[in-house]
Amino acid sequence: MLLPLAGGPLDKLAHQVTRLPKKGGVEGGEDALHITGKALFAAKENFGKRARVKFLTEAMAVGLANVPESRLTKAYWNTFYCSSVLHKKGESLTGKYCKNRWCLVCCRIRSAQLIKEFAPLLESWPQKHLVTLTVPNCSGPDLAATVKQMKGGFDTIRRCFTMQHRRKQRATPLVALRKLEATHNPDSDSYHPHFHLVVPDLATANELRAAWLLQFPAAKWKGQDVRPANAGAAHELFKYFTKLVTTQSKERFIRLAPLNVIFEAIAGQCTFQKFGVPKTKAVLSDDEATALAEELNIDAVFEWVQAQADWVDKESGEMLTDYKPSAQFRQFVESKIVYNSPQKNLFKDHLKPFKPI
Ligand SMILES: [Zn+2]
Repeated sequence: MLLPLAGGPLDKLAHQVTRLPKKGGVEGGEDALHITGKALFAAKENFGKRARVKFLTEAMAVGLANVPESRLTKAYWNTFYCSSVLHKKGESLTGKYCKNRWCLVCCRIRSAQLIKEFAPLLESWPQKHLVTLTVPNCSGPDLAATVKQMKGGFDTIRRCFTMQHRRKQRATPLVALRKLEATHNPDSDSYHPHFHLVVPDLATANELRAAWLLQFPAAKWKGQDVRPANAGAAHELFKYFTKLVTTQSKERFIRLAPLNVIFEAIAGQCTFQKFGVPKTKAVLSDDEATALAEELNIDAVFEWVQAQADWVDKESGEMLTDYKPSAQFRQFVESKIVYNSPQKNLFKDHLKPFKPI
């Protein structure tokens, strides 16, 4: 297998946690994502946003855990319980986080950490460009192999850049931040894996695109995109790696079966990597967490209650965030998370949580 030599695995989010378990086996283990310390509550308003995200994620996790024959069932249940209980200990609020890449609660925290971590580097690239590299869409069963080919092809390019640098044909080896994404097209029932990259300048972007087309002759020129990146666009790189919501016949749905295909295909893989970039300082904690804990001035255990869309202190009945989902969002969460197509809402009747064994 071709392993990136200079690229360090940055995507700690469930990189190890989502190692494929044996069927029915226990999924779990520690990774280096430090969410379990002081929870990163940057502001009270943010906390309300976290309730919103938890509300959606919990409904999605139950659905995914009910996808028949999934290899990730146990991990989906971990997501169901992600940050369900928050403890006030001394000055900070802590909870257990599932660290799975499909968990929006964890992804939000991880994204914020990555943005902070890479902001200085991205600011030091005034000519930065975004590059999108694609291959033709593939079927669900071919997705994992296609992703592997893409990574292999990219690695060949990276090694080629390194070689050229050694021969003094290039000023630098390949310098890039790379994100793997995959989406599903419900009309053709095909999958679209692609890389998003931020590179320091236009020349690198164009060279990368040309080299990619040589590696993947079936890839179309128009599928590969190069554009200048502003700070906001660069931040897109750290966001969630698949589009959860698909629109078909003007209706928006979250389709669990195709999402499960994507999650299974990329389980255990790095979705975010850096190449030729100096070491960055990982952002592990947030001082504001302490400030918020003080502001809330609570000493209690809050448990998530899906029906209330909030963490509730079972003793006093106090709500932690006072978040109220809009009627429209509640309706979406409660009725638009479907197995596959609107006609195939197979387990609407048994979308009930049960405790995993
Ligand atoms: Zn989580």
